[in-house]
Amino acid sequence: MTAKRALVLFSGGQDSTVCLGWALERFDEVETVGFGYGQRHAIELEMRPVLRAKMAALKPAWRARLGQDNVITIDALGQISDTALTSDREIEMTASGLPSTFVPGRNLIFLGFAGALAYRRGISDLVAGMCETDYSGYPDCRAAAIAAMREALVLGMDRPLDIHTPLMQIDKAGCFAMAQEIGGQAFLDLVVEDSHSCYHGERGVRHDWGYGCGECPACRLRADGFSRWKSEAAREHP
Ligand code: ZN
Repeated sequence: MTAKRALVLFSGGQDSTVCLGWALERFDEVETVGFGYGQRHAIELEMRPVLRAKMAALKPAWRARLGQDNVITIDALGQISDTALTSDREIEMTASGLPSTFVPGRNLIFLGFAGALAYRRGISDLVAGMCETDYSGYPDCRAAAIAAMREALVLGMDRPLDIHTPLMQIDKAGCFAMAQEIGGQAFLDLVVEDSHSCYHGERGVRHDWGYGCGECPACRLRADGFSRWKSEAAREHP
């Protein structure tokens, strides 16, 4: 039987860190890919090797399965997007109802690059942290958009490919719960301590849910998810 190999889109954020744990439980070899595109919160890229090293130390099986890391620089994304993620504009809600952090079609671009990399690496399973339940409402996080992108990649590269999105139907509270299910308290602590979600790249203040400014949409989503998860866990295990 040939080894099952996966490529995880790993940004260093909370969602993709939980997805990496999810993949390490299921695949024989797991590679990661990260994208540099001039994001203001480039600190998350610096957390990637920290997270990979600590996750490898968490379980012997994870150490054995964790494969190479790939970093792809897509500077062009900054050129075609004038948004708060890559410029100095304030993060706010826009008239379209989306936060100004929205880079149009960003996830489709990432999946395109990841699909091409997977092809070159002989991998036919992508794992990605898109989620359609969270408030941000990026249209390229929706299951239908991911399914269409998968079909385009399969047709365009003439090679089987699956895109796994384990977080698609769960919210941030569920994401914390999944971290604990996958790797117990130690993995949950690691996700809180070392994954990075704050759009401002702020790591000065440590909250119970992790580091961040506490004010941007990503921080508020994470803080709210953590407190809901805490109260749900308290109800289940009083
Ligand atoms: Zn923040």
